Amino acid sequence: MDVRVRMAPSPTGFLHVGTARTALFNWLFAKKHNGKLILRIEDTDIARSTPEFEKDIIEQLKWLGIGWDEGPIRQSERLDLYETHLKRLLNEKKAYWCTCTKDELEAKRKEMLESGIAPRYDGACREKHLGPESGGVIRFMMPEHVIGFTDLIRGHIEFKGEAIGDIVIAKGLKEPLYNFAVVVDDEDMAITHVIRGEDGIANTPKQLALQAALGFRHPHYAHLPLILDANRAKMSKRNAATGLAEYRAAGYLPEALMNFLALIGWHPEGDREIMTPEEIAKIFTLERIQKGGGAFSLDKLNWMNAHYLRALSDAEIAKRIDWEESERNKKIIALVKPRAETLNDFATHGAFLLELPAYDAKLLLWKDMAPGAAKASLEYIIELIEQGDAATIPKFAERNGRGETFWPLRVALSGMKESPGPLEILHALGTDESLRRLHIAIKKLETPS
Ligand code: GLU
Repeated sequence: MDVRVRMAPSPTGFLHVGTARTALFNWLFAKKHNGKLILRIEDTDIARSTPEFEKDIIEQLKWLGIGWDEGPIRQSERLDLYETHLKRLLNEKKAYWCTCTKDELEAKRKEMLESGIAPRYDGACREKHLGPESGGVIRFMMPEHVIGFTDLIRGHIEFKGEAIGDIVIAKGLKEPLYNFAVVVDDEDMAITHVIRGEDGIANTPKQLALQAALGFRHPHYAHLPLILDANRAKMSKRNAATGLAEYRAAGYLPEALMNFLALIGWHPEGDREIMTPEEIAKIFTLERIQKGGGAFSLDKLNWMNAHYLRALSDAEIAKRIDWEESERNKKIIALVKPRAETLNDFATHGAFLLELPAYDAKLLLWKDMAPGAAKASLEYIIELIEQGDAATIPKFAERNGRGETFWPLRVALSGMKESPGPLEILHALGTDESLRRLHIAIKKLETPS
């Protein structure tokens, strides 16, 4: 069997990390089995779908490194195909027009709830034999028997068709709804495996019943666990960044994110974590996906990103942050890289190299050191630097006291309470700029506050 899978985002929001993870698992599965991956844009919800969201989804998938073999195929461009199959169901009396109003449906729902029945459509229009001129919606006659399937991750799952009731599958012949369009597309695109989020489980019996009614094949199903935040709650916009673009903007590398996302809900045998997409694809199996929610740990992402950053050459980092390769930039990159967690760290942690921040003279004093002592220490260091003897600063520090030497020097050079070590900064700034900053520090120490 030739594996064919799909990623089927709805362009009703920016690419969500959960959707990216689902896309990635489909991509890995296709790669592992030498199959095909189809990008299908599920834009039947006309009111909420926008070209802007579609553009973001495609852009972020590409940035992440997830390519596809067919598509993007937009559902909105396939309305004739859905209409053909809708008509077929109507002709075969497997679907019918329904004109029940919202108010009527709501009243019945309440009644059912009050008499302790799980609410569902009562089939009031089933025997009315209405036509398209009724202006109603199209309902599918849900079979009453048990509908079961074997989920490749969760095992056997079943639903009572009777409890689902007749679902609305289209608002009109040219307005198919999600469950119907998906079933037609999965057949038309010869999808063999539907790998999607756990929130799709409740839709599966509806889709299986529609496939049976239309004489379609049933694909295999695998429902992925939810992504949980640090509080083990479903990851949501309210308490975490959920858009992939937000992580990109925060300076995360696509290769790190890809590796990180692959390990949410799936892990290989053993404890290996850093793996290339190719390595993951080789060993990826649906059987190793867990049923319970997978944690999204920002600490882990930061650790992974730092790891991938350090593996990049300085020139490559310059390219990624769009910096020209000047001497100064090279120095900043070399200085920040050992501690960097994200690409943005180069701009933020390296900023003091480009421009000395304003700081208070008091910051120059190590513990209860007197301004005069700090000044003397810095003046001596200036002499050493001017004589080309900067390398002997550590020796001077042994006599003068480490804190008393390095603290004022580091603050003078960085203007910051925390920064890389003074000798590294000295090297990165170069002699002229270092001397300029040392003189500024001395002026500050001479000016009583
Ligand atoms: N369009 C659906 C979503 O974005 C995908 C559902 C499916 O994969 O069948 O959640």
